[in-house]
Amino acid sequence: MPTTKKRISKNKGNIFIISAPSGAGKTTLCRMILEQLDDIEFSISYTTRPPRPGEVDGRDYYFVSKDEFMQMVQEEEFIEWAEVHGNLYGTSKKRLLERVSKGIDVLLDIDTQGAAQIKEKGLEAVYIFILPPSLSVLRERLEGRASDSEDVINRRLKKAVEEIAAYKMYNYVIINDKLDEAFELLKAVVLSKRVAIESIDTDWIEETFLKG
Ligand code: ADP
Ligand code: 5GP
Repeated sequence: MPTTKKRISKNKGNIFIISAPSGAGKTTLCRMILEQLDDIEFSISYTTRPPRPGEVDGRDYYFVSKDEFMQMVQEEEFIEWAEVHGNLYGTSKKRLLERVSKGIDVLLDIDTQGAAQIKEKGLEAVYIFILPPSLSVLRERLEGRASDSEDVINRRLKKAVEEIAAYKMYNYVIINDKLDEAFELLKAVVLSKRVAIESIDTDWIEETFLKG
């Protein structure tokens, strides 16, 4: 059986921008989407932050020095970049546009500053904000991850409130209380975008059904 998706989708991928305060579960949810859906890739950002245990260069991030990062800024290689929690993070413009032009959906896990920069550039994207059920649950998750010091966790919690204040910029808001439920909602957003009228190859419909 041929797949319907390949036939009726335009030959252009969608951009999904996911933001959330650190610890809300973005990484977990993005991984689930990438594991369970086809034709979607993660946009691997560049960062000056050191790798956490288990993180792999070229899979989770491209880990670069500050000098290397600033060189890329100068050469305008980033579609957006920002300082988050004292480290620099950026998205490669070339790589992103290349994947989208090949018909592949791309998932960007970026902060609210980066999302705002992409919005300003007028790039078509779906903006999704993930919230934790409460600030106390957010703290528990950050502590549970056990990869950051108490000082870093406190800074991240303070920053969380500033980030949540930007929620109105997003098209969808998902509360990550029960992981499976949050995942189903995120999956629904991705799948519904794929069949939205603006994603559909209308030429194919005209050719197949309406000509002659
Ligand atoms: P982020 O990428 O937003 O910083 P993570 O995906 O690393 O967050 O999640 C932070 C921690 O919370 C991880 O230990 C993760 O396993 C856990 N977590 C994520 N979602 C849930 C959930 N719905 N319920 C309980 N724990 C969760
Ligand atoms: P972490 O260090 O926990 O992986 O990420 C910290 C924050 O940086 C998260 O909010 C994440 O979304 C954000 N981030 C990761 N990559 C990028 C990027 O390329 N650009 C921007 N603006 N933020 C990013």
